[in-house]
Amino acid sequence: MKGILRGIIGVVIILLGSIGYIQAQQSTLRTIIVDPGHGLPDPGAKGHYSNESDIILAVAQKLVQKLRDSLPGVKVIMTRTDRNLPGHLTSAPEANRWRAKFANENHGDLFVCIHANDAPSTTHRKTIGYRTKVYYTGKGSKRRKHTRRVPRYSYYKVPSTAHGTETYVWAVNKNDSKQDFVQSNNPDELYGEKGDSTVPMFSSTEEKILATLRTKKYFSRSLLLANLIEEQYVKQGRFSRGVKQRNEVGIWVLHATAMPSILTEIGFITDRSEEDYMNSQGGQQQIASDLLQAIIKYKTLLDAGHVH
Ligand SMILES: [Zn+2]
Repeated sequence: MKGILRGIIGVVIILLGSIGYIQAQQSTLRTIIVDPGHGLPDPGAKGHYSNESDIILAVAQKLVQKLRDSLPGVKVIMTRTDRNLPGHLTSAPEANRWRAKFANENHGDLFVCIHANDAPSTTHRKTIGYRTKVYYTGKGSKRRKHTRRVPRYSYYKVPSTAHGTETYVWAVNKNDSKQDFVQSNNPDELYGEKGDSTVPMFSSTEEKILATLRTKKYFSRSLLLANLIEEQYVKQGRFSRGVKQRNEVGIWVLHATAMPSILTEIGFITDRSEEDYMNSQGGQQQIASDLLQAIIKYKTLLDAGHVH
């Protein structure tokens, strides 16, 4: 009985110690990783006259400048500062693994991934007349000729009306969570490369508890920042499609970064007026300052100890 009691007390001490440790470790924002998605040869989504890759690079650069001006104590690092991806990257999955690894190796406390959305136009048809189609039934002497009137169509494309912003966080559910990633002992699985992982390995119970607490923290912090960003867009008169929790290939990079992380879609490049807005200096400055304001609020809440 005494042994069990001692065991329970031991676990409680570990838990309390872990909470204290994490709060001490992560109560401030020291390093922000700003990630403009894509990069040539991957241009991302295409608009009427521009591509996603260049737009989000321009917005990311403005955001980084503002962050450095407003938060001089915080280290801000970009995954790419060039139109092109680093030369050794040949595919999108490879590029995403590289992004996550870059963020983890640089010990980011926050990962801000910037993208622009697109929605394909839909094809419709209208009847422009009729033609006579000949067909036959039966065999031999019973073979008969028939005719039938069939419509003739003209096909045309209607551009999507989708517009607005949305921000994604990696959903944590029972079967699949960032925790599995954070706890994984197999670096090959994480990055597809041998012996080159910067993700911490967990062996003891205490370390596993720490990983669990971190995962929960990452999720709630990611969700907090995502909400602050969408709120900021709305304040500027943008249409918000909301904060979305997903687990899918397109946002895998959020899963693989061992830190709070969000992916924000700053508008639809397929929408003419949003494409103009995102290409304009004024629009880019405004989006960058929306992101800046949200990050400042996030940091303030963190530093004040209001976020766990
Ligand atoms: Zn994209």
